[in-house]
Amino acid sequence: MTDLIQITYISRATFEPGPRENGVEPHVGRILMSSRRNNPRRRLVGVLYYGDGCFFQCIEGERAAVQALFSRISDDPRHTDIRVLRVRDIDVRSFNDWSMKYVPAAREVLQQLRAFGQTRFDPYSFNDEQIEKMVDLLRTSADPTTGQLNSTSRRNAPADMMGLTYLAIALSTLALAVSCVTLAMIMEWI
Ligand code: FAD
Repeated sequence: MTDLIQITYISRATFEPGPRENGVEPHVGRILMSSRRNNPRRRLVGVLYYGDGCFFQCIEGERAAVQALFSRISDDPRHTDIRVLRVRDIDVRSFNDWSMKYVPAAREVLQQLRAFGQTRFDPYSFNDEQIEKMVDLLRTSADPTTGQLNSTSRRNAPADMMGLTYLAIALSTLALAVSCVTLAMIMEWI
């Protein structure tokens, strides 16, 4: 039988938030990209929330794989004050469709926080019921980054455009050369 667990932890980002690209803070975007690259081969899934300088992450998978990832994440200098909120045995992965889902500080999360009596996201003050509600909300919330954060990110777009421009110039030059040769042959013939 597979030994599945779910770990939920919180932490504080050590970086100053940069301007958002496609609605995602750039450090968070890089974390998501490596999570989405690494997690599938370890059969890990989960969700990451980032708001007001704090992370809230839930990771699910086989015990050894989750523990190995959490140990790596714990050494990551991009966050600090890491606190495990709960570790549970689970029968199935509930974030099955996501190598790492991303939920931004959107309206439904802010509404939930208001219901908790918070004006800023402070997961360090969550009680057990609030942790449960937050995980449930993240399970049902939309991920606006689906299909955006992959290796064909906007960073590659200028290089692709340059390649196309060179190809267009080369083809035009070739067409011009062929026309000149054809014209010369016609002139010679008449
Ligand atoms: P790369 O992602 O290619 O990075 C290479 C090295 O550089 C790593 O050692 C990395 O720690 C370091 N690095 C990269 N960017 C920075 C930076 N801006 N500042 C400092 N060091 C940097 N990884 C996962 O695989 N799955 C997850 O679900 C996951 N969740 C995370 C959640 C949080 C909140 C944080 C902070 C990190 C998370 N990570 C996750 C990243 C994890 O800590 C490792 O960085 C990552 O697993 C290393 O992947 P990689 O070997 O492919 O290296």
